[in-house]
Amino acid sequence: DLGFVAHFEGGEVAGFTFLAGGGMGQTNGDRNTYPRAADPIGFIRAEQCVDVARAVVTIHRDFGDRTNRRHARLKYVLAERGVEWFREELAARLGFRFDAPRPLIWQRHEDWLGWHRQDERRWFFGLRVVSGRLAGAILDGVTEAVETLRPQLRITPQQNLLFTGLEEEARPVLEEILRRSGVRLPYEMPPVLRHSMACPALPTCGLALTESERVLPDVAAAVQQEAAAAGVGEEKIHLRMTGCPNGCARPYTAEIGIVGQSPRLYSIYLGGSPLATRLAQLYSHNVPLEKIGETLRPLLAAWASERTAGEAFGDYCHRIGMDALRERFLEAGR
Ligand code: SF4
Repeated sequence: DLGFVAHFEGGEVAGFTFLAGGGMGQTNGDRNTYPRAADPIGFIRAEQCVDVARAVVTIHRDFGDRTNRRHARLKYVLAERGVEWFREELAARLGFRFDAPRPLIWQRHEDWLGWHRQDERRWFFGLRVVSGRLAGAILDGVTEAVETLRPQLRITPQQNLLFTGLEEEARPVLEEILRRSGVRLPYEMPPVLRHSMACPALPTCGLALTESERVLPDVAAAVQQEAAAAGVGEEKIHLRMTGCPNGCARPYTAEIGIVGQSPRLYSIYLGGSPLATRLAQLYSHNVPLEKIGETLRPLLAAWASERTAGEAFGDYCHRIGMDALRERFLEAGR
């Protein structure tokens, strides 16, 4: 709904570009609901952030749809009234004008998995936690590592865990504990699983229409197998899966988004960017769980043979376009 992106000048925070009107959720069969990427609205100084946030909330309060809960989102106010209207309304409520948004340059999206220098003396380690689920072997390993090494922990938006503030001598100790506990280290994990996410869905979430977290390892393995068969098994592919269209694991910005529609049936979205800055488009509807790998097979093969240098799978799908992909690979097979 509302985001603030810091800009640095000379090592200091110079201010924030703020964005509004993004959101993932949509409702099955309701065309008035859809995922939307946020719009950059303006650039402000740090001390103006709270005033801006307050004013944005009042715009949502006054112009948001109060009659339909599914449509009661700030993103629809932006989509239906326009960004320029929003800027004017916001400036009027703030009593001051703000600068145009600064260019947003994203360098990387995935977590810092594996070992990285934190400063001259210390290290941090990013552990891949599939679907963010700490249970069984990985819970045992993490518990022992925390009790032994007393690191600081960070939970990341990609469902992973960072062990921070570790001295050099802690590195082999952490790896030994994790390995002994049967935990796969990030660089031992196949790329699709390493770059995947799933929401909890069944049995935890009362809104789930079908499975997500519990079937993610099998789905990632099926896609990995197809990627390997196409000769692109070592490439990064960001795959995200949810058990309903609410999109809690952000499938609509993934390169491959798999969204549960009804028991064991999924929509496949393609064409999100590897940096998660572009929305994916619906490719196919009602794909049975066991046919997800097969459905992606010709697309992965086409990407392998037709991609430009360094072109990611999502960028390839976006360049070719969803209509052309459907015509080639879905309608031809009917
Ligand atoms: S996306 Fe997943 S976690 Fe979110 S509401 Fe749907 S099933 Fe539940």
